Amino acid sequence: MKLIRTALFTASLTRYVGAMLAVVLVASGAARAEPIFSFDATPGKLPKTVIPINYAIELKPDAENLVLPGVEVIDIDVREPTARLTLNAVNITIAAVTVDGGAERADVALDAATETATFTFAQPLAAGAHRLRIEFTAQINKFDRGFFFVDYPTDSGVKRLLSSKLEPADARRIFPCWDEPAFKASIALTVRVPRQFLAVGNMPVVREEPLDPNMKIVTFAPTPKMSTYLFVLTVGELERITAEAEGATIGVVTTAGKAANGKFALDSAVKLLAWFNDYFGVRYPLPKLDLIAVPGGFGGAMENWGGITFFESRLLFDPAINSDSARRGIFSIIAHEMAHQWFGDLVTMAWWDNLWLNEGFATWMATKAAEQFHPQWQSWLNGYGQKQFAMSLDARRTSHPIQQPVANESEAMIAFDAITYNKGQALIRMLENYLGEAAFRDGIRAYMAAHAYGNTTTADLWRALERVGHKPVTEIAASFTEQDGVPLILAETACDGDKQRLALRQDRFVVAPSRTAALPSRTWQIPVVVGKVGGAPSADLALLRGSTEIPAGSCGEAIKINLGDIGYYRVAYGPASAAALAKAMPRMSATDRVNFLADGWAMVQAGRAEPSSYLALVENVGVDDRRPVWDQIIAAFSALNRLSRGRPERPALQRYISAKLRPVLNRLGWDGSGSGDDDDTLLRSALIRVLGEVGDEAVMAEARRRFAEFLRDPKSLPLALRDPVTHVVGIAADRATYDTLLTLARKSTVTSERLRYYFAAAAARDPALARATLDLALGDEVPGTIVTGLIGTVASSGEQPELAWAFLQKNYDSLLAKQGSQFRDQFIANFMTNFSDESRAAELAAFAPVQATSGGRMMTGRAREVIAISADLKARALPSVDAWIRQRK
Ligand SMILES: [Zn+2]
Repeated sequence: MKLIRTALFTASLTRYVGAMLAVVLVASGAARAEPIFSFDATPGKLPKTVIPINYAIELKPDAENLVLPGVEVIDIDVREPTARLTLNAVNITIAAVTVDGGAERADVALDAATETATFTFAQPLAAGAHRLRIEFTAQINKFDRGFFFVDYPTDSGVKRLLSSKLEPADARRIFPCWDEPAFKASIALTVRVPRQFLAVGNMPVVREEPLDPNMKIVTFAPTPKMSTYLFVLTVGELERITAEAEGATIGVVTTAGKAANGKFALDSAVKLLAWFNDYFGVRYPLPKLDLIAVPGGFGGAMENWGGITFFESRLLFDPAINSDSARRGIFSIIAHEMAHQWFGDLVTMAWWDNLWLNEGFATWMATKAAEQFHPQWQSWLNGYGQKQFAMSLDARRTSHPIQQPVANESEAMIAFDAITYNKGQALIRMLENYLGEAAFRDGIRAYMAAHAYGNTTTADLWRALERVGHKPVTEIAASFTEQDGVPLILAETACDGDKQRLALRQDRFVVAPSRTAALPSRTWQIPVVVGKVGGAPSADLALLRGSTEIPAGSCGEAIKINLGDIGYYRVAYGPASAAALAKAMPRMSATDRVNFLADGWAMVQAGRAEPSSYLALVENVGVDDRRPVWDQIIAAFSALNRLSRGRPERPALQRYISAKLRPVLNRLGWDGSGSGDDDDTLLRSALIRVLGEVGDEAVMAEARRRFAEFLRDPKSLPLALRDPVTHVVGIAADRATYDTLLTLARKSTVTSERLRYYFAAAAARDPALARATLDLALGDEVPGTIVTGLIGTVASSGEQPELAWAFLQKNYDSLLAKQGSQFRDQFIANFMTNFSDESRAAELAAFAPVQATSGGRMMTGRAREVIAISADLKARALPSVDAWIRQRK
């Protein structure tokens, strides 16, 4: 599953090797080892006395009345005699339950709190095979939990389609089932739909029969054994384009009239299928794979087996509307979801505590695939921010181990975070680098072959990798998976005559409010890569324990730790090393320069360094440096700009930011000659956005001029400039411009285009227009998927967090009804991190709804810590930034 805005992150795995001095392992600490998979020992709530073997399900969706009646016949294996049978069901009414064709009905008890149904029979069922028949009626939702509807605009009026989204635990909203990943069973689906509808499920359609002049019955081939959260059904006025690859049919399914925009997705999927077949060593096991574009209802993509669903703009590419660089995100998300077809779908984590393995692996594989097929994107380098983001969360007290206990569904839902995805990806990349690319792949092949159609824990994977790689993996991995936190390596060089020695010591990297108690210390086993900047090639691999000292060239030579930026750790350099490295920055690879700057900024956030130390490094970056380098600087500047909202010194900070960034934009110019999918084009876009955000008058005037020209002649504005120009125009919008943006949004039937204009309108800083956007978010006009995004944009780009918070409190109940439990458990807490005042942290804590679930309480705790850290950083760093700026005048 992919929930958040996909970044396009990937890069060259080998480019740093030329400058490698040594790979050392700073080791200490013993790790606990998780056991390999056992069905009976797998966590979960359902009794393991009864196991489903096959579900035969017939569904009759009623799109008008939003109900979903159905009948299912489940073949079960009763492992020990029992008169009570418990499975999952929520928001489902059950009319009748019988067993083995008998007339006698079971008593049905539904428990909303545990989301279960318990059937009690007069006589115990004997051990062995039985057949259960259940008549039920489920609901069709407005939001992405279970089966949901989407109303979308077309040239011939508003249409409705139905689709499903079940991870982690919402299959139980469609049909009563054993809705835990370890209960794998086959599913044979039949569905009644209007005759003009296309129905898409996990498997190919084997039969379509007319039922009456309006309706038909569609029967799908039965699936292999699978987990229920991977079930899919999408029905509507859809069309499908297909291609044959490796013995399977690949399809792209869209709403009517849009299939041609699925061409890039289809071509990508065909290439990826062959590559994945080879990488995993197991052929894609289903006869078909559909990529389904859903024009609303949910925001990301979901790896349902054989029928991946995507929010439409994540999948479709319209060369007349989308910038060329949009292909990066589309490719990445397809690769992510396709990797899951093996890693997640064919071999499935036993329980949600191992979710990171699914998501970390798919995220890593998406980047690896982008490096393979589109090396010019330099996806590891350009995606450096994914690991940075994970480390920023993982440095806090409220972080969690990537392998974490998951007690219930609200907790499973919030486990889909950047630590799970991005730290998981970083760990897998570090292990691949440590074992070697081929050994790692061979281990994955052995793992796939051994566990196909089954479940695993991480221990099964480590065991497979150790057998093939002949190196210890479990202990290194466990120190990163079973404890939270970011390793910090303290590095300093000392001269010994002409020779230099490097001392390395382990600590824990922490970003915490200054008043809080110290976090417990941690130790890791860290594969550390050390090298001379621009030095001679060497690839020694040493295994060291604890702190260490190694020879490091001649006196004064610049020695960098984490060469190639593959390791998941931060480095704090002593004064001598830091000075040598700062001087050597121009000779570093862009990858190392980004890593060095990012660690420098992190030390400021952690209170380990003054802001001036980071700002001095920025002075060493040339206007012609690479996009990711400037991107790192833009991120730091944007954070300072956000924190300084309302301070009298803000205009001086904004002038300083403009003075640093404008020369970079001037070098690129507004009209570059790039392909539209090159780093210059993307950097230009980012610069226009941030310069608009800090109020750079020249940039805003040019954006307004180009937007006015665009309204007269749409072709005048290159596709790559449409997002940033529209965004900047939105920030400064007056009423007339705001109305123009909304008119453009309403006129378009293309999701990505509608979003561009709605989000630009939401960025308006005029309070009256911010209020207008908030009203819009309450109504039915905008897709439900973007409601929280619009409210968040009013707070962030629109700089009206107070207005938006008052609105959220006032309209909480109606927004909850429209948005579902994620709104309560996640959005409210995340929203409050727009603030950097402790009083807001207290307000959040006192807001009763977020305390209602354990997931909500966790998110609230994390958000309160973020607010406190921001408040602290504001008090500590901003005055010293002001002083730095004054000094430089
Ligand atoms: Zn995923």
